[in-house]
Amino acid sequence: QAPQFIRDIAPYKAGKPVSDVVRELGLDPNTVVKLASNENPLGLGEKAKAAIAQAALDLGRYPDANGFSLKARLAARHDVKAEQITLGNGSNDVLELAAKAFLTQGTNAVFSQYAFAVYPLATQGCGAQSKVVPALCYTHDLDGFLNAIDSETRVVFIANPNNPTGTFLPQEKLLAFLKRVPQQVLVVLDEAYNEFLKPEDQYDSTQWVAQFPNLLVSRSFSKAYGLAGLRVGYAVSSTEVADLMNRVRQPFNVNSLALAAAEAAIDDREFLQKTYEINLRGLEQIQSGLKFLGLEYVPSYGNFVLFKAGNTPEAGMKVFDALQRLGVIVRPVNGYGLPEWLRVSIGLPHENEAFLAALLTALAAMK
Ligand code: PMP
Repeated sequence: QAPQFIRDIAPYKAGKPVSDVVRELGLDPNTVVKLASNENPLGLGEKAKAAIAQAALDLGRYPDANGFSLKARLAARHDVKAEQITLGNGSNDVLELAAKAFLTQGTNAVFSQYAFAVYPLATQGCGAQSKVVPALCYTHDLDGFLNAIDSETRVVFIANPNNPTGTFLPQEKLLAFLKRVPQQVLVVLDEAYNEFLKPEDQYDSTQWVAQFPNLLVSRSFSKAYGLAGLRVGYAVSSTEVADLMNRVRQPFNVNSLALAAAEAAIDDREFLQKTYEINLRGLEQIQSGLKFLGLEYVPSYGNFVLFKAGNTPEAGMKVFDALQRLGVIVRPVNGYGLPEWLRVSIGLPHENEAFLAALLTALAAMK
């Protein structure tokens, strides 16, 4: 029989695929808009597509188990050694590897209320305890984290910007926090949405690893780089931490197409810039639309917005269902303890417009 801590795990609820909605509601797949998983609405960049086509010619072989070429590229980009990089099957994998390497029964991980759903899953999967710190106005309370850390704490998870709230901690706060965290605690700084930050908010935490050997910075190719379906992410850490992570990962955890696409995507600065600009405009479009509709929202630093669908605990799911019937898929966040709220990802201008129009219709029908 599986141990109780495994049976107690509440499974991850992913954004609903278009195919599910089409099947359940009989909608035309071409008209359904999915704004539920913080994906890049542009899809894959041309350079990534070309690299995939090339790599597809050699799929009879195993991928490079050490991802030599991609790691070299990432090391040059972050000005670190290749041995400081761990590749993951998505950054989810990186988060799980950190948990696997550092957590066991009797230890704990500290993270915020309204933090990314994989933190409790990865922690519980190792039989460790989750210590959840109440959020401060939907953001991480780092003083609360310091108070929560005890002699059994081995990992702290911080997402910056945070999902699902879209909130952001400036680098001064993170640095002040890192200076006060005990050395035996691995600080996992999850920067899946880093590329969406405005230039004035940008910071390079991978450079802090030299000063803080207990820091691990996690990055994703699923969001701004548009490679969500390929599953590739990475961590930058000290060589010692990277060595531990590599001991617990599957030997071929990143497939050949993902390795090739990620390497090509890093060089596609034009695609990244276009993504950034579309997101910035989309954020403005959606946030001003929500304001117009009189709905509360949390100002976002990512490629999604958390908004309040109503004032009752049923509101989130009611509006989610209504939007779905109108062909727009957003993300319920009741699993995060936010049943009145919904999260919408930023899409292309016409997708954002379709969302706002459907929301207006859905809310009017509920009055
Ligand atoms: N961290 C955060 C905060 C996220 O929101 C996500 C995606 N939802 C991930 C990590 C994982 O993304 P991926 O595994 O696709 O890199």
